[in-house]
Order: sequence, then structure tokens, then C-alpha cells
Amino acid sequence: MSETLDERITDELEALEAILLNDVVIKAVDNMPIFIETVVHPSTGDDAEQQYVCVTLGVTLPPGYPDVRPDVVLRNPRGLDDCLITSIKEQIRDKLDECIGQPVVFELIELIRENLTESNLPSGQCVICLYGFAAGDIFIKTQCYHYFHSHCLASHLIAGEKYYKEEFEKLPNWQQMQAPPYQQTCPVCRSQVTCDVETLKLAPPPMESITAPPFCLTAELKALQLKMASLLAHQVAKGGVVGAGDDGPPPLTITTAADNEDNEATNASPSAPPEAAKAGAVNNGGAVNANTSNEAPSSPGGRQAYRGPYRGFNRRGKPGRRGRGAQR
Ligand SMILES: [Zn+2]
Ligand SMILES: [Zn+2]
Repeated sequence: MSETLDERITDELEALEAILLNDVVIKAVDNMPIFIETVVHPSTGDDAEQQYVCVTLGVTLPPGYPDVRPDVVLRNPRGLDDCLITSIKEQIRDKLDECIGQPVVFELIELIRENLTESNLPSGQCVICLYGFAAGDIFIKTQCYHYFHSHCLASHLIAGEKYYKEEFEKLPNWQQMQAPPYQQTCPVCRSQVTCDVETLKLAPPPMESITAPPFCLTAELKALQLKMASLLAHQVAKGGVVGAGDDGPPPLTITTAADNEDNEATNASPSAPPEAAKAGAVNNGGAVNANTSNEAPSSPGGRQAYRGPYRGFNRRGKPGRRGRGAQR
């Protein structure tokens, strides 16, 4: 029982396809409902390099549209904070009220685009250094619309490649032949990226890292260290490989000279066995990256982990799991 589509809808769909071309996906199930999806970018005169934000708009046209409101969702926001998303959603709601009885998809795209154009600057933090983006910072947007200080991304990629090579060297020849080549990945979504590290490296460190007050190990930070240390012990006990077998100081412990004199106990080693055993017994779920086929389980109460050449190689392509070695 397929009704013929309302002319208002066919006109709208034709126009969407004609104007957005490959940037719009329109799916229909027995004429209705019709699902429309498109990624909205700020207007930058077609200069994609200058687009720092985007969001995917999904509109479902129910039977009865446009006399019935469509369902609208926003997905995969990039570079937009929650406040702005909430505000755009409110504006969409108002627009839908206003436009009942007439096609509204173009109006929605326009409304979102205006908002994105006004906010076309990275907001939030660089996830690598956790500093914000300040005037004078040099930053880069990846193909997946995540952005970082160029300086930070360079350090991340250098550390990632170094780690890959280290792990690669440990493999027997036959596995080296089969191993996929090193590939740069986004530290947020792990999409493949292609960046010129040599150029990125030339960028200065983030402004806020220069102007920030000197580091101070507060009580709050010490408490956090203890918490993280026990999480690490839990991972090690469960066969997780983060930090296991590393020589040198535990990766999650930052101390100052004064702190060392002050209290040896706060410098608790993450390998503390009783805690690890206890944590392991309590929680059976959520084992992090446990590679049970290759890695012998740790012996009860110890951090005895598999130390052979395969250890940890399943992490390749996921650089940055341990912060050590990254130049800040
Ligand atoms: Zn940064
Ligand atoms: Zn990404």
C-alpha cells in the first residue's frame, strides 16, 4: 500500500540531492519513513582546511510529514562543546515548531551551519597535554576532525612509532614478515592519519604549558596516584599488559624531592601484590586488553607476567597507551 509521496517531499528530496550531491544519504523504506543524513560543516567558502567543527544531522521523515514533525538527531559532533550542542538542539526544536506544514530539512541544515560558522574554532582541550587552545597556539586538525597542538601530536606520533619499532624488533622473523607496517593513528578515535611529523615538530609547545604555574604535588594528586596505582595493579593481575615488565620507575608515580624525604609510603609501588590479588578477585569483568592466548596468567599475588617477544604486541597501532617516552 504505497501511497504516492507528497509533492512537497519529492521536491525537497530532489533539491537536497541536487545541492548536496554525495554529501547526503537518503534512504526510504516503502516510501515512508524516509531517513536523511548529512554532515554539516561551517561555511568557509569551500576551504575545508579551515573547518574545525562539524556534526552529522540525521532526519527521519515520518508518514504525514511535513504536517507531522520529523525526528531529528545530531551525531558525531567534532570540536563542539556540550553547551553548544544543547543550544543547537533547542533552536532545532523551535524551528520544527515554526515550520510545521512545510519542508524543513534545508532550514535545519542552515541553522546548524550558522551555529558552526560562529564557533569554528577548536574548543575544549588538547587530549594529549590537557591544556586548552590559546591565542598563538599552533594546532592541527586531523582528517577525522580531532585537533591537537601540533607540538603535542608530533610527540605522540614519534613515541608511537618508536614503540612500534621496539615491539617489532622483539618479534621472530616470520612474524615480522606478516606484521602490518607502522601507521599513524589519531590518539582519540584511532582513525588512520597522515601527518608530516617533521613539520609538526617545529611548532612551539602550547602557550598554557609555558604560562601555567609550576607543578605541585597536592594531596589530591597523591590520592589519585594511589587510586591509579591500584588500577594498574589490577590490570597487571588480570593479565593486562600496561606497564608490565617495564624497567624503571612505575609510570604513574610522580614525585618531588621533598616528597621523597617526606614520605616513602606515598610512593607506593603499583606492583603491591596483596592489593593486586584482592582487586583481581573482586572483579572478573572488564579485563583490559587481556590477551589470554599468548600471555600466561600472572601467578597469584605477583606481577609475574609473560615476558616473551609477543608480549604487548597486540597493542601495536594504538600508540600512547603508556605515556613514558613521550617528549613533552
Ligand atoms: Zn597539546
Ligand atoms: Zn580522530
